[in-house]
Amino acid sequence: MNEFKNFINGQWVTTGKTFENRNPVDNSLIGLVHEAGRGEVDAAVKAAKAALTGPWASLKLEQRVDLLHGIVDGINQRFDDFLDAEIADTGKPHVLASHVDIPRGAANFKIFADLIRNVPNESFGMDTPDNGRALNYAIRAPRGVIGVVCPWNLPLLLMTWKVGPALACGNTVVVKPSEDTPATATLLGEVMNKIGMPAGVYNVVHGFGPDSAGQYLTEHPLVDGITFTGETGTGEAIMKAAAKGVRPVSFELGGKNPGIVFADADFDKAVAGIARSTFENTGQVCLGTERVYVQRPIFERFVAALKQRAESFKLGRPMDAGVNFGPLISLQHREKVLSYYNKAKAEGATIVTGGGVPAMPEPLSAGAWVQPTIWTGLPESSPVIRQEIFGPCCHIAPFDTEEEVIKLANDTPYGLAATVWTQDLSVAHRMGAALEVGLCWVNSWFLRDLRTSFGGAKQSGIGREGGVHSLEFYTELRNVCVKL
Ligand code: NAD
Repeated sequence: MNEFKNFINGQWVTTGKTFENRNPVDNSLIGLVHEAGRGEVDAAVKAAKAALTGPWASLKLEQRVDLLHGIVDGINQRFDDFLDAEIADTGKPHVLASHVDIPRGAANFKIFADLIRNVPNESFGMDTPDNGRALNYAIRAPRGVIGVVCPWNLPLLLMTWKVGPALACGNTVVVKPSEDTPATATLLGEVMNKIGMPAGVYNVVHGFGPDSAGQYLTEHPLVDGITFTGETGTGEAIMKAAAKGVRPVSFELGGKNPGIVFADADFDKAVAGIARSTFENTGQVCLGTERVYVQRPIFERFVAALKQRAESFKLGRPMDAGVNFGPLISLQHREKVLSYYNKAKAEGATIVTGGGVPAMPEPLSAGAWVQPTIWTGLPESSPVIRQEIFGPCCHIAPFDTEEEVIKLANDTPYGLAATVWTQDLSVAHRMGAALEVGLCWVNSWFLRDLRTSFGGAKQSGIGREGGVHSLEFYTELRNVCVKL
């Protein structure tokens, strides 16, 4: 039986309380997770605090950069272990985890190792009132202990997207992975010990949110900043916890992202692109498309083509040849997704395809499977169109004009991402400026130079991470002015 232990101050820590970790493919038991209580979380935070002034703090920049490259090598050397662990936790197809999750998990350390060596600091020589001179410049200091609270949809990728810049900037971290995906954060602890990362720099505490490790971590007064990816509602709870002691937060939250297809778009590429942004990772991508707007002249043809795509996915075990569609993360999440499938039906949507649970052979029938689903015909006021479902589904509606679709796309409290399909450059640039989102793709999706900003507008987030933008949260800027 696998056991997932807490990683505190370089040691593996068990607790008296465990919970089950199950494989969503067939609901089989993967192992037991040791839930951290207040005591373990306190120990992890204190270890991280102490590490801020230990050997980690006295490393030269190049040594810190070498350690970050060591993590990259450590992940790559155990690539298959990370892959197996991520696939068991999430049920995602091998093709996806091996091309996206694990390589990006390693790349997240490399990009910030490279970046931190090349960060310019502002510096001004200035005249003073007494006709003298002064030198006024900035220093970036680590913020301190960073609490990292993660979701389950891209467990290693999203966690390292935060741990990478946090460590590059000289902070220490306490990570709280999702209760549904404890494995790869735990495995990273083994890599940290193997490469000689000083104890206390990287800590992992397992558990849930309220009345568990998530709450204890975010409430802890020695945590200097909290970075969180997850639902907007959870973000509100964490913000309340962070208010005590006025700790800063960096939030990557939910979305209800529009996909907009103009009649002049390259039709096949647009269909393939929307199919990917709607159904990849079984629709469990924060940047995914759940609202599709298609210009009227190509509406019927587009709906038919997307239906064909949705019906061509191969569901099955992650390692089986050709499988490109996995289960949802858990039976619990399936309940939520199915409640929207039922709502759409009750509201009289046209179910273009899907809408329920697929017939799977034993023992997969016990897993968290749902059908890829497409609807048309719902009013814009429907909860199916307004609320984040986080499943493999979308509603498609026709539109006539650019002005109309901008209004429709922006009529949401969310503002994470949009994808626009057109061959008209002017339309593309106008849409990029008009859509109230943190990320706008044109004729693409999930494509980004990691040096650029990532984050959401409106209720989809606070702050931006990525490239130098990560420094805003992971460092404290000090202004030094020296009278010469
Ligand atoms: P979630 O908010 O339910 O949980 C995320 C994490 O927060 C988990 O580790 C959970 O244990 C913890 N948590 C829950 N309540 C807490 C509390 N009160 N205090 C402290 N911690 C708490 O999200 P999820 O279901 O794991 O992930 C799906 C959500 O994440 C979706 O809304 C999705 O859009 C969002 N997401 C956003 C991005 C982005 O970059 N914007 C990326 C991925 C996922």
